[in-house]
Amino acid sequence: MFIDRILEIIYPTRCVSCGKDRSLLCESCAGEIEPSGGYFCVVCGKATLGGFTHKTCTTRYTPERTLSGFAYKGPARELVKVLKYRRVRKAADVLAVLLVKDLQGRGVSFGPKSLVVPIPLSFWRKNTRGFNQASLLAKAVAGALKLEFREGALKRVKDTPSQVSLNRKERARNIQGAFSAGEDLDGKDILLIDDVLTTGSTVREAVKALKKAGVDQVWVLAFAKD
Ligand SMILES: [Zn+2]
Ligand SMILES: [Zn+2]
Repeated sequence: MFIDRILEIIYPTRCVSCGKDRSLLCESCAGEIEPSGGYFCVVCGKATLGGFTHKTCTTRYTPERTLSGFAYKGPARELVKVLKYRRVRKAADVLAVLLVKDLQGRGVSFGPKSLVVPIPLSFWRKNTRGFNQASLLAKAVAGALKLEFREGALKRVKDTPSQVSLNRKERARNIQGAFSAGEDLDGKDILLIDDVLTTGSTVREAVKALKKAGVDQVWVLAFAKD
């Protein structure tokens, strides 16, 4: 795209963190990226073995498992920021490679028939940004894992104000009813992708919509945990 070429001229490829080198992330900064700090349950936020949702937290509408790659700081944060705010699309590929390598290092593997689905952005944000960063990440992850990318499986059906200034409870209320399945998903397994997890309220609401549409297992996968 023309705009990408312009941005490439304005922001030539160099390390997002130290500015050196000719790649988006140099080797030395890649080594500084910190792991996300253990597995947690996306329902209650507390630690759990392998990221599996606690039995006591599980309902018909909760994901089976939640995985995040890295702590949202340092070079990991810089990478997400150049993707989101400077629209450097190829950062999504770097995120995906880091994430998939990290998961493989931990011995995590996915069902070969899982569909890879991104969390849809709100309309206004997609319109101002021009693309959905979670979608670019999901596409790259699907490619790396050789799984099917299915962007249309989940749709945004209600626009909601930004979650940024809201607390955990307010976020959950704000995002209610924002998603709906875009197709028949009966018996499918889904790998639901987001770039950064904060309280997880958006993800929980998205999972609810998928489960209502008959999805069997949902695993949530995020590049970083804030
Ligand atoms: Zn660097
Ligand atoms: Zn829990």
